[in-house]
Amino acid sequence: MELTLLGTGCPKVDHKRFGPSNLISTKKTKVLIDCGSGVTQRLDQIQISTADIDALFLTHLHSDHVIDFYQLIISSWHSYRVKPWIIYGPKGTKKFVSKIMDAWKDERTQRIKYENRSSTAAFKTIIKEFKSTGNVNIKDLRIKYFEVDHKPVEFSYGFNFLNKKKKLTISGDTRPCENLMKYAQDADVLLHEVFIDGEFKETNKMRTKKTLHNVRDYHTPSTLLGKIAKLTNCKKLVLTHLVPTKFNEKKLKKTIKSDFGKNPIIGKDLLKIII
Ligand SMILES: [Zn+2]
Ligand SMILES: [Zn+2]
Repeated sequence: MELTLLGTGCPKVDHKRFGPSNLISTKKTKVLIDCGSGVTQRLDQIQISTADIDALFLTHLHSDHVIDFYQLIISSWHSYRVKPWIIYGPKGTKKFVSKIMDAWKDERTQRIKYENRSSTAAFKTIIKEFKSTGNVNIKDLRIKYFEVDHKPVEFSYGFNFLNKKKKLTISGDTRPCENLMKYAQDADVLLHEVFIDGEFKETNKMRTKKTLHNVRDYHTPSTLLGKIAKLTNCKKLVLTHLVPTKFNEKKLKKTIKSDFGKNPIIGKDLLKIII
């Protein structure tokens, strides 16, 4: 199984760290996790066609994770996708997809009529909303989804991907959370979000200490992540969803290593990890 980090950033724009998105590939399967800003450009960079993605999984419906949803759909049509999109996501995904598809309906109808191509299957969506926990099989990939804690976001999920006795855990967006630690036990790779303590220096009228506290509060601070990783007994820890996107790498590694005992891998866009 291979994990490719397509976007390791957050809502704040950074041309080196695109919005959150990951690709999981096996011999037979390609699954996309989230569709943050720039996802289709990153897929193009690694020569993966959006026509070939088997399923899209959404961790939650925060805009940084789904902002390029329609771009994904329309670009897959332009890449000659001939199958519907299978989408797994939290409660609310059906409503979200329906509203986005509706916003572009007139434009799409005109385009389809004018271009008169042989397939419009790329515009069809099959949506399955998560319960609190469950399993999904896609060809040779087994996926377990479970709830994480990103409140006030009501429905936010992490995932385990299992293939050939290897386990990859993806945290999604979460504050320190027991459920995540439970499901991430003994993972070969734990891909975890992080809020980097001590790096967010700018405050102004829009970004006060209070608003900063609130952002930190529903993410996982770097000062706790090493302890969490240690408790999961994961073999490798990979950091993504780096808030802020610019920081002192040496310092971050040192902070996490002091509790985890091993150096974490600091995620970068297009980094590929073989599991
Ligand atoms: Zn979020
Ligand atoms: Zn996010």
